[in-house]
Amino acid sequence: MVKQIQWYPGHMAKAQREIESKVKLVDIVIELVDARAPFSTHNPELDYMIKNKPRLYILTKKDLADPKATDALIAEFKRQGHSAIAVDLKNFKEEKKIVNLCRYQLKEKHEKEAARGLKPKPIRALVAGIPNVGKSTFINKIAKRKAAAVGNKPGVTKSQQIIRVDKDFELFDTPGVLEPKFTDINKAMNVALCGSIKMEILPLDDLFIHAIGYLAKHYPEKLKERYNLTIDLDSDWVLPVYDHISDYRHIKKLRGETDYDRVQETFFNDLKNASLGRITWELSDE
Ligand code: GDP
Repeated sequence: MVKQIQWYPGHMAKAQREIESKVKLVDIVIELVDARAPFSTHNPELDYMIKNKPRLYILTKKDLADPKATDALIAEFKRQGHSAIAVDLKNFKEEKKIVNLCRYQLKEKHEKEAARGLKPKPIRALVAGIPNVGKSTFINKIAKRKAAAVGNKPGVTKSQQIIRVDKDFELFDTPGVLEPKFTDINKAMNVALCGSIKMEILPLDDLFIHAIGYLAKHYPEKLKERYNLTIDLDSDWVLPVYDHISDYRHIKKLRGETDYDRVQETFFNDLKNASLGRITWELSDE
């Protein structure tokens, strides 16, 4: 069991209720998750909130993720019956594809409405996701912020505007902010490694061991390249790894002893700066 920790401020409960009421006003929910850990950065409660509404998963930060893993993960989402696409929001080119994926999911509904003689209405979307997955960046890019707000519509409070993106596509200008939710400690660690919760919330030595152990298993070449480090996972590797990184990176010792905190800090900074290269922290929804 994950220790009961206050992961998020109290106002999040109110935010959840707001999302539920916003979901009622849209045709489709665009859920952003981090391509480096898309299952861990998904909030499973959103599944209940959106009920039968169509959803598009956008795996963001694909520029930071392992490209092969991203392809496999997209295939896995599709196998699970979801619509999914990976993007690099710093170099965003998939706007048309995204609008088309939404259109495709709503095609049948629109055809039924047309058969009943109803005038076509623009598709309205809500962007949702846990903190730091790129919601604001995505809205700014797709709306190009030149698009004037379409104005208030029934059921939309004044502070929330609807932005017209395309002739038949609109979205809320503010995203639904979901709280990070995870079912086990490994998922919590993945969320921290993606920067969606503060690393310091978790026991940092556990996070260090989790990350190094994962890299040794899945990306040994990256440890070799960055720290000239080779790990035999069947051995007692933890303390020797601290000592090795300390020596290799010339980290000042404390009274002749390895400074474990500084080693961790150095490693986590390397991760934050993507100095080890492109890494995906989960390969399937175990
Ligand atoms: P939000 O909290 O979900 O609204 O996330 P933001 O839009 O504020 O983005 C969080 C951080 O991630 C910002 O520093 C963005 O520049 C960065 N970011 C967002 N999308 C991407 C991406 O696709 N690639 C990279 N490298 N950084 C991204």
